[in-house]
Amino acid sequence: MLVVMNDSATKREINRVSKLIKEMGGRIHPISDETAVSMGITGDESTLKADEISRMPGVRNVNDILKPYKLGSREMKSKDTVVKVGKVNIGGKRLTIIAGSCAVETVEGTNEGGRLLQMLGADLLRGGAFKPRTSPYSFQGLGERGLEILADARELINIPVVSEAVDTESFDIVEKYVDIIQIGARNMQNFSLLKRAGKSYRPILLKRGISATISEFLLAAEYIMAGGNYNVILCERGIRTFNDYTRFTLDISSIPELKKLTHLPVIVDPSHASGRRDLIIPLSKASIAAGADGLMIEVHPDPEKALSDGYQSITFEHFSELMKELRIIAKAVGRIL
Ligand code: PEP
Ligand code: MN
Repeated sequence: MLVVMNDSATKREINRVSKLIKEMGGRIHPISDETAVSMGITGDESTLKADEISRMPGVRNVNDILKPYKLGSREMKSKDTVVKVGKVNIGGKRLTIIAGSCAVETVEGTNEGGRLLQMLGADLLRGGAFKPRTSPYSFQGLGERGLEILADARELINIPVVSEAVDTESFDIVEKYVDIIQIGARNMQNFSLLKRAGKSYRPILLKRGISATISEFLLAAEYIMAGGNYNVILCERGIRTFNDYTRFTLDISSIPELKKLTHLPVIVDPSHASGRRDLIIPLSKASIAAGADGLMIEVHPDPEKALSDGYQSITFEHFSELMKELRIIAKAVGRIL
């Protein structure tokens, strides 16, 4: 539920309401939406008595949130959430571009690639160190060494970095090295991982599961927020359908739908969605036109030789062309790139 206090509510009144909510077993989440003090309350709905709370001095109103996801809903917070990582904002008027290779491979490749991508307009550098591969015989990533390489590139180039945590065991290590922790599609409903992410001081980039409904996706984000980490970025990365000409099917309509239902930023990964480098530019343009707050793109200096996902990785020239074409779309829909 959402508890909104009167503008004139005193500190003492706020404290008394907070105390009552805690006695009822509720957890308080501060909501930064309006000038009045607002509290998102989660917990066992059978012990949280809305009428009792609404009778407390200083309370303006108590609203039940009818959606299954609460903290992520627009009812709880109408204003867009902007996730901040250093100087980079994710979710504002300015679009956010995350680019880099699927996996961290070499020191030189990461440093030179990162520098070039930043010059071409990337805001964040990506690279997997712990890779969730379909086959156990595929390259599994460099592990902690990969994170070191990525963190060194961040210092050298001054660009925030993103990498995936595949399990609760490796989460602490990833948290130590990177600015944003990615939770991959296959782990979208790994509830222990989501709970660990909820306790993290780092923003979480949560990818949609390959067969997850919008509601399941938002409930996965809710796990992270319920733990107290409100910096969640949603990433549409394609879902499984019967079509066999792309790796997955990019669900374009999920973008305006998510933007309607949640205040969290929504970005799109056309690389994993399509599995085809020839589709990256059109799908990126469509995503921005549909209201996405940014993109995550796999780029590799020599895609044919990439240790993972080469067929969907684009070259730097291709990335440069993508940025050029995106600027036109961004302008047309009132966004900045
Ligand atoms: C990735 O971004 O490297 C990745 C593995 O993506 P997904 O979890 O969406 O397959
Ligand atoms: Mn990949």
